[in-house]
Amino acid sequence: MTPDVIIIGGGVAGLSAACFLSEFAQVTLLEREPALATQSSARTAGQFTTGISGDTMRAMAAASRSFFQAPPPGFCEPALVAPRGCLTVGREEHRPVLDRLMARLQEAGADCRFVDRQDALALFPALRPERVYSGVFEADAMDIDVDLLLQSYRKAASANGARFLCTSEVTSIQRIAGTWQVTAGDLTVSAPVLVNAAGAWADRVADLAGVPGLGLKAFRRSAFTFPLHRSEAGAWPHVTTADYSWYVHPQPHGFTASPAEADAADPGDVYADDLRLAEAIHHIGIDTNLTVHRPSANWAGLRTFAPDRNPVCGGFADHPGYFVSAGQGGCGVLTSPAMGQALAAVVQGADLPGNLAASGITVEQLAPARLMFS
Ligand SMILES: Cc1cc2nc3c(=O)[nH]c(=O)nc-3n(C[C@H](O)[C@H](O)[C@H](O)COP(=O)(O)OP(=O)(O)OC[C@H]3O[C@@H](n4cnc5c(N)ncnc54)[C@H](O)[C@@H]3O)c2cc1C
Repeated sequence: MTPDVIIIGGGVAGLSAACFLSEFAQVTLLEREPALATQSSARTAGQFTTGISGDTMRAMAAASRSFFQAPPPGFCEPALVAPRGCLTVGREEHRPVLDRLMARLQEAGADCRFVDRQDALALFPALRPERVYSGVFEADAMDIDVDLLLQSYRKAASANGARFLCTSEVTSIQRIAGTWQVTAGDLTVSAPVLVNAAGAWADRVADLAGVPGLGLKAFRRSAFTFPLHRSEAGAWPHVTTADYSWYVHPQPHGFTASPAEADAADPGDVYADDLRLAEAIHHIGIDTNLTVHRPSANWAGLRTFAPDRNPVCGGFADHPGYFVSAGQGGCGVLTSPAMGQALAAVVQGADLPGNLAASGITVEQLAPARLMFS
């Protein structure tokens, strides 16, 4: 069977693209690894927040909320999201940072409020009172069930006839007589439409296709888990500091924490940095009474940004049939519904769906052209 669309990359960007594109096209997805979603998409904290600095990224998050809260019938069972909340605390000198965060959250329509020290301690009792002056609480921040989301995108696409080919590293891309001819090992697949959803590798894939790169930069972020010291802590909000020196994300089975670093890295497999983990454990010990004797597990992943830190979704006038979905930074999971929907619209040359338009998003804001001419 000859597909209409070839997608390169089987992370959350490629899987959401497959889900929405397969509603009107025959899709084949090629993934280099032996399984889908083993790179960045397997290494996330699974947080949904709209307290994001990039304007378009924040709008894409807001546009994705309705999908998470009420996915299409039959998409998944049980719920994709659960309430969590997100608390950002600061000392007196951090007030301007908290003011900016509040303004962003309000713009995105979040349920948010300023909290004083007492409120902050009621929400996250492990905070040390002397380290908190005030904070911002985003009450409708949520936990995303990332495994369920990824499986559900794949299942929806498979039900529409999409094919997923793992252990298929794309090494050559040619445009021949109006079709893209893509080679991965012994396999060659052709289609009129090619979607580059290769995450940190998206500029390398663009290079193979002879299409301009986006100037993407990848940054490593480490994370680790440690046990809950009290059972009620599983219901506490995600907490971070205004200077973003660490975050702790309670989950039913334990805490996930991170030094929240952004260390430049080349695309590839990355591992947690011991020094960064030690710094985070140290800071968490100063700001809270949580004691991390030894992380139960640790890992790292890449967060990949376009130069303006907003996501890129669209095509190139000079390269018909080529589209990219990349630069999702630290928000690739939480923006994936809107990114998949936007991609499906631009591939068809249609208007963006109502939830994106209602968040003020335009095709031009997402398009790669904004980076080429800036
Ligand atoms: C510690 C950490 C915490 C995070 N927390 C959150 C969070 O709470 N919420 C959130 O929304 N986001 C979060 N993120 C960000 C999120 O993980 C990413 O934005 C997202 O996973 C990017 O998805 P992707 O599909 O673009 O990339 P990837 O998942 O990396 O997928 C790209 C795929 O392309 C494949 N590929 C590359 N080159 C080729 C080729 N030549 N041929 C075939 N296949 C190829 C790769 O093998 C890879 O599987 C976090 C990230 C990290 C590291």
